[in-house]
Amino acid sequence: MTQELPIRVGHGYDLHRLTKGRKLILGGVQIPFHLGLLGHSDADCLTHALADAILGAMALPDIGHYFPDTDENNKNMDSKIILKKALSEAENKNYQIGNIDLTIITEEPKLSPHIKNIKNTLSQTLNLETNRIGLKVTTNEKIGAIGRMEGIAAFAVCTLILKNIN
Ligand SMILES: [Zn+2]
Repeated sequence: MTQELPIRVGHGYDLHRLTKGRKLILGGVQIPFHLGLLGHSDADCLTHALADAILGAMALPDIGHYFPDTDENNKNMDSKIILKKALSEAENKNYQIGNIDLTIITEEPKLSPHIKNIKNTLSQTLNLETNRIGLKVTTNEKIGAIGRMEGIAAFAVCTLILKNIN
């Protein structure tokens, strides 16, 4: 029998296109803006990147496997449900989140006023203390598709820690 790893690291990346007529939701928080993210679910790229990081740490398939965009039930879905599913997959295998570190890349809107709210929302969703949640926001210096505000991208890294079975 192979020994379970005490710590696992996961990485996730996601990008969604910015468009008119959609809500902008990042980390489960609705951000006031004249554009929103396009996608089958609520298109929350930050939450999707984080869910993929958790699944990746467990060497499981990505969120598209669990929530296919061909399934009408997933239309406009609250991505916090996707994140909770990823967490439950890790917990079912006896792992808990150690810490997470997130980066959002967008030119606009200014997200610094929303960082605390996003951290609190993720903290509640994952039942994880905010001092284990890193969240940074950066621009793409007006370079490329993100620089032209065609989309918003997010990166996520997480550690998962094997729970003490004793
Ligand atoms: Zn996505």
